[in-house]
Amino acid sequence: MSAAMDRASAAPQADLHDLSVTQLAGMLRQRQLSAVEAAQHFLARIRAHQPLGAFLALNEDATMSQARAADARLAAGTGGALEGVPLAHKDIFVTRDWPSTAGSKMLSGYRSPFDATVVAKLKDAGAVTLGKLNCDEFAMGSSNENSAQSPLGFTAPEPVKNPWDVSRVPGGSSGGSAAAVAARLTPAATGTDTGGSIRQPASFCGITGIKPTYGRASRYGMIAFASSLDQAGPMARSAQDCALLLSAMCGADPDRDSTSLDLPDEDFSRPLNDSIEGLRIGIPKEFFGAGLSADVRAALEAALKEYEQLGAKLVEISLPRTELSIPVYYIIAPAEASSNLSRFDGVKFGHRAAHYTDLADMYQKTRSEGFGDEVKRRIMIGTYVLSHGYYDAYYLQAQKIRRMIADDFQQAFALCDLIAGPVAPTVAWKIGEKSADPVANYLADIFTLPASLAGLPGMSLPVGFGAASMPVGMQLIGNYFSESRLLNAAHRFQSATDWHSRKPAGI
Ligand code: GLN
Repeated sequence: MSAAMDRASAAPQADLHDLSVTQLAGMLRQRQLSAVEAAQHFLARIRAHQPLGAFLALNEDATMSQARAADARLAAGTGGALEGVPLAHKDIFVTRDWPSTAGSKMLSGYRSPFDATVVAKLKDAGAVTLGKLNCDEFAMGSSNENSAQSPLGFTAPEPVKNPWDVSRVPGGSSGGSAAAVAARLTPAATGTDTGGSIRQPASFCGITGIKPTYGRASRYGMIAFASSLDQAGPMARSAQDCALLLSAMCGADPDRDSTSLDLPDEDFSRPLNDSIEGLRIGIPKEFFGAGLSADVRAALEAALKEYEQLGAKLVEISLPRTELSIPVYYIIAPAEASSNLSRFDGVKFGHRAAHYTDLADMYQKTRSEGFGDEVKRRIMIGTYVLSHGYYDAYYLQAQKIRRMIADDFQQAFALCDLIAGPVAPTVAWKIGEKSADPVANYLADIFTLPASLAGLPGMSLPVGFGAASMPVGMQLIGNYFSESRLLNAAHRFQSATDWHSRKPAGI
């Protein structure tokens, strides 16, 4: 068979975007597909689906030059695990060859002189960057309605649409990443999770995403929101793909992120197929209370039955301080944000007001113009809780409860190996439905915040559909460094079901 026919039978171009990262990597390695062809295919899809608002920036020259370099390595047989696989980055990661804005007007047109460590590591593994993905401004939000940047094809900011129903939000803050993966504009994407921003958009868009243990992946070059919580992770269609990506993303970065952990490199793909016979799955009763909508509960209960069929045992557990995670997070995260965002003052980089009278006026005008409402709200809350007289009453109290929340998890893990529950109380809501009510947005974070505050790994995997036929994700939370076990449990579920391979109509 000729090489061309071989290629045609192995990968009809129209279906390339339905292939998994694992399949694409295999075909690229076997040279049934070139990195240039793969990149061209996805760039064309991104252009065709601009109305979704998922992408903020492309640089086709940079993409194609990375793809050609990948092809050369593939030809020489020296490629990495992801050689030639296209992927896209949340615009919170700085990139040398694409603008890096964090979804903020403050960083319009900003170019970083270096790549974030996670970006560099994925590049080292051979991945080809397609472009940058929309996100909530400085990763603050749960719906991706807080971006101040105009997506490709738009001349003004526009919310990212959920590919399952374009009148609904994709979740946030990694909403562009989730929408792009669900719409098959990229086989995978990076995301960041401070309080749920990988898990919740993954759930809303019917894809799989994992936030590793705090410290697993370097934060260097991830534009900081709340440094004690921010973590990078992969978003893809399956746990198998996430495992492949996560293995490339993790690793100590001692000179650049002192909180990155010095652990041996781990191949998260290796234990994927291990049996889960006897796995004890903890069901926190506080995650299944009155706040959980009936449709989400029904999808989760069916998934838990499936887990029992696979040999897992369900154990009731308690995470008694679940409710407190909302006030605790919304004190600590804004406190850290108010400090991190003080660097945006119009002096060194980013936006600077055009007209001002003196230095103080320049700071004030620059920050008033550059930051959006949600970011200003958090800076004000953060400054307030850190100020003299309130620090003890709010910030220190929140830190103490944060420790108790982490301890509650340790008690739970004496009884179970993994914890399962909802990612969010409901399916994706309508665009505009909660945008006037910040507290309504905050409340929807209740099930993702506890693991974030404790620094634990957590993931979301699609387990069915709920109200309005929107995807429902299940959250799995593991103890520190148990990413392999989480991915193994998710992969076993995905080997027995096909929720993760469903796709939105018209995609
Ligand atoms: N929704 C949460 C917030 O608005 C979490 C965001 C995130 O994880 N980046 O802060």
